[in-house]
Amino acid sequence: MLLNGRQLSSQALPEDNDKSLRPQKISEYVGQREIIENLHVFMEAARKRGEPLDHILLSGPPGLGKTTLAQLVAAEMGVEIKITSGPSIARPIDILVLLHALKPGQVLFIDEIHRLSRLVEEVLYPVMEDLSFDSIISKGNAKGGVRHKVSPFTLVGATTRSGAISSPLRSRFGILFQLDFYSHEELAHIIERTAGLLNIDIDGGGSLEIARRSRGTPRIANRLIKRVRDFAQVKGAKSIDQKLAAYALERMSIDECGLDLIDRRILDLLVNMYKGKPVGLSTLAAAIGEEADNLEDVYEPYLLANGFIMKTARGRMAGPRAYEHLHVNPPAEFCED
Ligand code: ADP
Repeated sequence: MLLNGRQLSSQALPEDNDKSLRPQKISEYVGQREIIENLHVFMEAARKRGEPLDHILLSGPPGLGKTTLAQLVAAEMGVEIKITSGPSIARPIDILVLLHALKPGQVLFIDEIHRLSRLVEEVLYPVMEDLSFDSIISKGNAKGGVRHKVSPFTLVGATTRSGAISSPLRSRFGILFQLDFYSHEELAHIIERTAGLLNIDIDGGGSLEIARRSRGTPRIANRLIKRVRDFAQVKGAKSIDQKLAAYALERMSIDECGLDLIDRRILDLLVNMYKGKPVGLSTLAAAIGEEADNLEDVYEPYLLANGFIMKTARGRMAGPRAYEHLHVNPPAEFCED
């Protein structure tokens, strides 16, 4: 059932495009406490110096709030934000046009920054360092460089793959933050806020049940509350409680750990078909009918972070929780202390 796989995809879907759910103030941003506390210090210091904030690199799986955070930083600093993404900046001229149009202090947000081409990256280096770039002008046989200046700005880059960022680019960011998956309590808080905005009646047990099955990801939590509301409406229930939430999510094949059919297929392959032996990423992707990139960016992070799978030099292996989840006895090496 494709629908179920899509419900748990942490990548944005058209139905997630509900801007009213995005926190409007940094005080509404739930969780990521350490990052928020440090950001407050860096923003206050920049304000006191009358300078834009240093360039920021945000890393973490899709749906954890990187775009939201960039928007909140701009709002807090009282500046505009220009949002773009790595794949849409194909040529050096594209980034130059963007940089030229920046107003002083503005935030330039580049999503999927790891997908910038090397040529585009090379244009960015001097701009990130000293707000200048050279253009080469050739007239006949003569060649000359012209230096251009851009307004002071803050580049906020977001990536689902911090390992894919080239080291020259990474070293030009002054602030590096790695976003973590959210706790059940934090997600329950986000679900209750969303329920309030959408006029959905839910009790504490209901929000915690949805939170437990949301893979630590606010985007998924916000999507699931809407689907559970559909079940509540059809059943004529006025309020969502734990029982109704569990029923609705089971109906969508989302189990008590937040795993769906595709996740369980991955675990089943690793445990039962490959008998705990390492499996290459592309073999595994082909076996579940997904792109390798999608498997790596969307499915794996939560499974890895929660001990369902392990990444080794020889490939992916089932982790201890995979055996537990499938009620299969683990191989002897898992039982040794
Ligand atoms: P990313 O850019 O990391 O893919 P987004 O910033 O687009 O993630 O977040 C997805 C959705 O989840 C947002 O629309 C927002 O409603 C919600 N969200 C994300 N992080 C938080 C948070 N910390 N508190 C409340 N809601 C959040």
